[in-house]
Amino acid sequence: MIKKEERSSRIRRRLRRIPAELSEALAGVLKQRALLRGYVYRSRRRCGKPSCHCAKGERHEALVLAAHFGGKQTTRSLSGSGADKVVRLAKNYRAFREGQRRFRRGVQEALRLIGELEGWLVEAPPPSASRSRR
Ligand SMILES: [Zn+2]
Repeated sequence: MIKKEERSSRIRRRLRRIPAELSEALAGVLKQRALLRGYVYRSRRRCGKPSCHCAKGERHEALVLAAHFGGKQTTRSLSGSGADKVVRLAKNYRAFREGQRRFRRGVQEALRLIGELEGWLVEAPPPSASRSRR
């Protein structure tokens, strides 16, 4: 009995916190207006010319986008005015996916806990009152 009460009240406490977490996760999804499925990284490479400064360690830096679009993986180097937007959209995408992931995890946890709670709360039906029931 003690175990049942202890466990079920722990489950209730956990469940009560989940709506706020779901709402926060959903906010991360709802605030995005445009996404770019990809990530941006800074590449530092050597061009191969022996006389170039990159041969002495000062490598060429470029922003590179690795993106998934139209079923294909593409890579482009970013430069100029478009780069900021791409960086922002790729960041939006990460935030969107993070919100989605946290929302899914929260829902799954809530369902699991609700099922567990049901298991703790369910009682056996009363014994039959009379044996004369047809
Ligand atoms: Zn070079």
